[in-house]
Amino acid sequence: MGLDEDALEYHQTDPPGKIEISTTKSTNTQRDLSLAYSPGVAAPCRKIDDDETQAYTYTAKGNLVGVVSNGSAVLGLGDIGAQASKPVMEGKGVLFKRFADIDVFDIELDESDPHKFVEAVKMMEPTFGGINLEDITAPSCFTIEERLREEIDIPVFHDDQHGTAIISGAALLNAADIADKDLEDLEIVFSGAGASAIATARFYVSLGCRAENITMCDSSGIITETRAQEVNEYKRQFARDIPSGDLADAMEGADVFVGLSVGGIVSQEMVQSMASNPVIFAMANPDPEIGYEEAKAARDDDVIMATGRSDYPNQVNNVLGFPFIFRGALDVRATEINEEMKVACAEALADLARQDVPDAVVKAYGDEPLQYGPDYIIPKPVDPRVLFQVAPTVAEAAIESGAARTDFDLDAYEEELEA
Ligand code: NAP
Ligand code: MG
Repeated sequence: MGLDEDALEYHQTDPPGKIEISTTKSTNTQRDLSLAYSPGVAAPCRKIDDDETQAYTYTAKGNLVGVVSNGSAVLGLGDIGAQASKPVMEGKGVLFKRFADIDVFDIELDESDPHKFVEAVKMMEPTFGGINLEDITAPSCFTIEERLREEIDIPVFHDDQHGTAIISGAALLNAADIADKDLEDLEIVFSGAGASAIATARFYVSLGCRAENITMCDSSGIITETRAQEVNEYKRQFARDIPSGDLADAMEGADVFVGLSVGGIVSQEMVQSMASNPVIFAMANPDPEIGYEEAKAARDDDVIMATGRSDYPNQVNNVLGFPFIFRGALDVRATEINEEMKVACAEALADLARQDVPDAVVKAYGDEPLQYGPDYIIPKPVDPRVLFQVAPTVAEAAIESGAARTDFDLDAYEEELEA
C-alpha cells in the first residue's frame, strides 16, 4: 500500500482520529465522583475564585496547550479551511504529547477575519496554559500573534514562524562556527518573505546578525527601497537600499542562503557564485529550493547544507523546538514566550549538537555517524537529551527575563525531567 492509503487507514481505524481524553484521577466510587464533580468540585472553584493562579494547582490548565488554526495556510495544502485542517491539528497534539507529555485541545476556528479570530482566542485564555497558533496565512498571522501577545497573559507562539526561526537559528550558530565566520559579518539572502522567512530574519538579528546584511527576495525579486511602498509593512522592514535584481543577483558573494519559498528555484551556478564555505538552508517543502546532492556537487566540498527533509542530513524539523519550549514555559507558568526564551532554545540546541551522541540515537538513524560537523549541525528529534537540556534552559531564560510566575528549583526540575 502507498503512503496515502496507509494514512487513511491509520486515521479511520476505530476510534477515528488520533487523540482522546482520559481521566487522571480515580473515578471508581460514588465518593470519587462527588470529588470530581458536584458537590466536591466547588472547593477548588472557590480557591481559584480567590486567586486565579490556583487554576495551575487545581486544574489541568498548566499542562494544556490550545493548538489553534483557521486552516488558511496548511502544510503544502494551502487554504483548506478549518474543518479540513483538523487532522493536522490533531497531529500537532500527538507531537506535543509524544515529545513533551503536553496535552492539547485542537481548536479549528472557521474565521478568516484576524480581528474576530483574536477575539475568539482571547475568550479561551482561562482554558489553557499556552496557545500554539498553527498554519495561519501571512501577513494576518503577524497581526494575530502580536495582538494576542499583548492582550493575554499566557504564552502565544505561532510555530510556523518561530519554530522555523529557532531551529534554523540553531543550525546557523553551528554553521557559522564551522565556516569560521562571525554572525555579524554574514551576508544573508532570503528567498521568500512570508510567515516563516520574516520571523526567521528577525530572529537571526536577535542572534547577532545585522539587519543591514539581510537581503530578502519575494516572488518579484529583491525587496529594495524602490519597492518599499508596494510591499506589506513586514517585508518593508527588510527593504534594502540596493539596485533592483533577482535572487541570482542577491546570492552573488553571499555567505548564507535561507530558502523559505518554493522548490527548485536555485541553480548550481547560483551556489557557485556564493562566498567560501557557503551555508545553504533550502527549506521549501517537500522540494527544497535546491537539492542536497545538487548543491553539494556544485562546489568543492565546502557547502554546509540543511533542508526540511528527513532523508538528508540536517533536517530543520520544528519538532525539535515547540514541545520543549512549551514544556519549559508551562513549567514556570510563563506569561509569554519571549525573545530571550527563543534565543536560549536555539543556543541549547546548537550546544547539544556539539556533544557526543548516545549510541541509542545513532542506532535509531541507521548507524550513520553523527558527529559535530557540516553534516550534523542540529540534534536529531528522537534524541532524548533534547527534552532534558532544552526545556530547563527555556525555563531558566523565562525566570531571568521576568516571564515566569513561579519560584523554581531548576536542578530539581532537570532531575524530574530525566526521571
Ligand atoms: P508563505 O507565508 O506562503 O511564504 C512564501 C513566500 O515564498 C512568499 O513570500 C512568496 O512570495 C515566496 N515565493 C513564492 N514563489 C517564489 C519564487 N519563485 N521566488 C522567490 N520567492 C517566492 O509560506 P511559509 O509558511 O513562509 O513557507 C514557505 C516555504 O517554507 C514552504 O515551502 C514551507 O513548506 C517551507 N517551510 C519549511 C519549514 C521547515 O523546513 N522546517 C518551516 C516552515 C516553512 P510573495 O510574498 O511575493 O508571494
Ligand atoms: Mg505548521
